[in-house]
Amino acid sequence: MAWALFISDMNDKKTDHFDALIIGVGQAGKPLALALSEKGWKTALVERNYVGGSCINYGCTPTKSLIASAQVAHQARRSAEYGITTGAVQVDYPAVKQRKDKIVEQFREGIQKSVDKAEHLTLIRGEARFGGPNQINIALNDGGNQTLTADHIFIDTGTSPRVPEINGLDTVPWLTSTSLMELEEMPEHLLILGGGYIGLEFGQMFSRFGSKVTLIERGDQLLSREDKDVAGELADILMAEGIDIRLNTEVSHIGRNESGLVELSITSGNDSRTVTGSHLLLAIGTTPNTGALQLDAAGIKTDKHGYVEVNEKLETSQPGVYALGDVKGGPAFTHISYDDFRIIKQNLLGSGQASITGRPVPYTVFTDPQLGRIGLSEKEAQEQGLNVKVATMPMAWVARAIETSQTNGLMKVVVDAQTGQLLGAAILGMEGGELMAMLQIAMMGQVPYQQLRDAIFSHPTLAESLNTLFGQLD
Ligand SMILES: Cc1cc2nc3c(=O)[nH]c(=O)nc-3n(C[C@H](O)[C@H](O)[C@H](O)COP(=O)(O)OP(=O)(O)OC[C@H]3O[C@@H](n4cnc5c(N)ncnc54)[C@H](O)[C@@H]3O)c2cc1C
Repeated sequence: MAWALFISDMNDKKTDHFDALIIGVGQAGKPLALALSEKGWKTALVERNYVGGSCINYGCTPTKSLIASAQVAHQARRSAEYGITTGAVQVDYPAVKQRKDKIVEQFREGIQKSVDKAEHLTLIRGEARFGGPNQINIALNDGGNQTLTADHIFIDTGTSPRVPEINGLDTVPWLTSTSLMELEEMPEHLLILGGGYIGLEFGQMFSRFGSKVTLIERGDQLLSREDKDVAGELADILMAEGIDIRLNTEVSHIGRNESGLVELSITSGNDSRTVTGSHLLLAIGTTPNTGALQLDAAGIKTDKHGYVEVNEKLETSQPGVYALGDVKGGPAFTHISYDDFRIIKQNLLGSGQASITGRPVPYTVFTDPQLGRIGLSEKEAQEQGLNVKVATMPMAWVARAIETSQTNGLMKVVVDAQTGQLLGAAILGMEGGELMAMLQIAMMGQVPYQQLRDAIFSHPTLAESLNTLFGQLD
């Protein structure tokens, strides 16, 4: 016993003090570490897994790489529509995965290199937990422990996929977005719980690779926060591709049938039935990575779901401790996490009084077609009692879309009826994210819709469709 204690003491490193300590090398943690250390702050970065966090390793980068392969398969199958003959399209899934892995590694290595070469910056591999308001204890990945103290502590620990409590779930080998992307073979029939953006991106991707896909959503539409006409249009597009979408559907029990397949007992209204599939993906949201942090030891408050509570300057209830990115609760996007970094940087290194209040939250759902979103939806404008004008236009009216045979989707804009200012947009169409960004820039510059209606854009671009779209408002 005494010998064991001696060994463990030998593995424990002495306490060290830092100006700044960042927990999690996520989308905010890495740039913040580089910015602070560049200014000469003695900075420690603690990471229990891969550098780069979820976006690089199991979020944006791998999904968008896989989606690109799925799109090629889809377009190759449509080649005859363009007058091109290709022969039978085959998906070499191990090669698809290899391509994705290579891109992820390339991004991850880039981050590792930038951290390695930074002066005043120490990367510590291990899991951090609070030992006191300015003290962190780290269970090192290589064994042993290390205690650090710091003047400023930043929590950037992100979230993990949420696992629901459903009767029988523990009897089947369910997947999350992370483990699904590690499969070496394609699922034959993928069952997806959840009609949010992650469920939709994976559903369409695997359907295009050749899996059968059934998507179960308990609400009455996909993408619950979007307008019904926009979500309905996307549902129609996905169903036309062969995805079986079940709305208003609850899963009451999960088990296996006699062939070993995953079996879901589902209920929709008075109708109860079972659906079976080879694999089950849980895509019903996320839960904050705060469990391991022992936030109580530092008096840091969380909300009822465990997200760290912050004010508009990202300060927690404990002076000197900040929370950035997904761990503070939505909006959970990489660009928001990165903007959190900019706010902290401006407030600590600049003279600024930066705040998260009122910042725009654009986002893109990377289905095909994409859904680019900025500002208010029509539903949100109505809830706020605003006097608005709304224009909607099918992508089938857009010359560029017709020429490229990508006419799926619609464009929708919400405009202040008095001032003509753009309040929000939903672009469900080819390159919807890019077109949405143009409208975001117009909003930033407070360009009234009449100027976009009358602007000269080059022909035939997607941009010129804004003339027709805003022309609907007259
Ligand atoms: C499948 C999927 C697709 C996505 N696609 C998009 C997209 O297209 N666009 C977009 O904007 N966003 C997307 N996201 C969301 C995006 O990944 C996140 O919003 C973003 O990564 C959040 O960054 P973050 O700074 O909060 O921390 P993360 O990037 O989540 O990093 C947190 C880090 O903290 C580490 N950590 C946690 N606890 C501890 C601890 N106790 N000690 C030490 N280290 C710890 C974790 O290992 C992790 O590396 C996607 C997410 C998923 C899951």
